[in-house]
Amino acid sequence: MRRILKTALLLLAVVLLAAIAWLVFQFTHPPELKPYAHLAMPAATASLDAPDGLRVTFLGVATLLLDDGETAILTDGFFTRPDRTTVLTGRVAPDPTLIAATLQRAGIRHLAAVIVSHSHYDHALDAPEVAKQTGAVLVGSGSTANIGRGWGLPEQKIRVVHGGEQLDFGRFHVQLIKSRHAPTGFTGGEIDQPLAPPARATDYKEGDSYSILVQHGQRSLMVQSSAGFVEGALQGRHADVVFLGVGTLGMQGESFRNAYWQQVVRAVGARRIFPIHWDDFTRPLTQDLVALPYPFDDFATSMDFIIKSGVRDGVDVRTAPAWAHIDPFAGL
Ligand SMILES: [Zn+2]
Repeated sequence: MRRILKTALLLLAVVLLAAIAWLVFQFTHPPELKPYAHLAMPAATASLDAPDGLRVTFLGVATLLLDDGETAILTDGFFTRPDRTTVLTGRVAPDPTLIAATLQRAGIRHLAAVIVSHSHYDHALDAPEVAKQTGAVLVGSGSTANIGRGWGLPEQKIRVVHGGEQLDFGRFHVQLIKSRHAPTGFTGGEIDQPLAPPARATDYKEGDSYSILVQHGQRSLMVQSSAGFVEGALQGRHADVVFLGVGTLGMQGESFRNAYWQQVVRAVGARRIFPIHWDDFTRPLTQDLVALPYPFDDFATSMDFIIKSGVRDGVDVRTAPAWAHIDPFAGL
């Protein structure tokens, strides 16, 4: 009996060790980016003089700077990117010094709005501090508003949306359409009172999730930060370009991926997409972006899927290199 127990324990230890070794291997060998290098959109060289001229700068996860030379708006604004140990076992908080340095590197001085797609920490953690440093109004759900209040943002700098209303910032006309988060097990919940960091990453409940539609002159784009959808919600909407959240898309079944493509990319008649929310957000922005490792995501499957679907439906698939000011509509 004792020998059987010993053998079982030994086997268990071997399995555990193998699992740890496998995890360490995955974390130190993230998915390759090289196969997609040819998809990279080059930085725009022309000036912003054209009446509809617009530059978009990808800054990791679902943080995108939209700038037309007169007005600039930012989605999410997540820069602190706490490391994995802090996220899993500690408490997270915005780092104002790091945020200031990142804003400076991105050339951001004044923002009209910081628009938060949902209230998870990898989207909303820094948004109130970014708003504070840039004079922006913080736009988002009631949960996002409570993240703002917890950071001491004054009420007149917080705009709570409920979905569907139009917000104007210079020549940017923005609508937040209620959407759904990717089915990850971390969805749902509200932040129903001011949230003062440091707090656990899991205290940043999702709140409402939005598709962010932006009309600018004759052009339109949409930021879909999370790989989820509400059936029919985008029916009748249009966006030339979609910044498409692919986080955990590779872990879903093929039928979910197809539905996501139909309900988001096809629904708005997009002619080009840029994958976003693919990077490992526990690494600092000062380093090159690296894809989320397995088993958190399956980046290669996500990319295979969007590239194949793009070829089939005539949707141009490009990548937005971090920090590069690109013209998302170039050549469309
Ligand atoms: Zn999320």
